[in-house]
Amino acid sequence: MRCEICGKKIIGEPIKTKIESSIMSTCNECAKFGKVQREPPKPRRQKPFKRSPRIREPVEEVIEEYNIIIREAREKKGWSRENLAEKIYEKASVINRIETGKMVPDIRLAKKLERLLNIKLIEKSEDIKLDDLGHSSGRGATIGDIARIKRN
Ligand SMILES: [Zn+2]
Repeated sequence: MRCEICGKKIIGEPIKTKIESSIMSTCNECAKFGKVQREPPKPRRQKPFKRSPRIREPVEEVIEEYNIIIREAREKKGWSRENLAEKIYEKASVINRIETGKMVPDIRLAKKLERLLNIKLIEKSEDIKLDDLGHSSGRGATIGDIARIKRN
């Protein structure tokens, strides 16, 4: 192997040197004239498409009729709103607002009520189906989703 620039015999591995726009095999000396290419540029390979599981946390929502269910369950137990409020360490005004539908209990409070009154207040929303992606305004489709839809 000879140096492509000076023609000297190269001992060992020739150095790939970029001179102007061509890559040449050169000796140590001539490598100084150009940019040393450590390795031939690899074509950029895209990561193989992997269907990675999306992080799906079921969304917990308080059902619509929560106020009726709470009121009926409370009345069945013979409790006043004040009684119920005491049991969950809330103010009676909170129970008032919940039972009149003016306030949606948060999940934490709804869980307390569920346990206490033995009722069901929380529903877990279903996973989004591909078909729904276009219509749902809540969770937007990602580029990945769109690609996936087109693929199908
Ligand atoms: Zn040389």
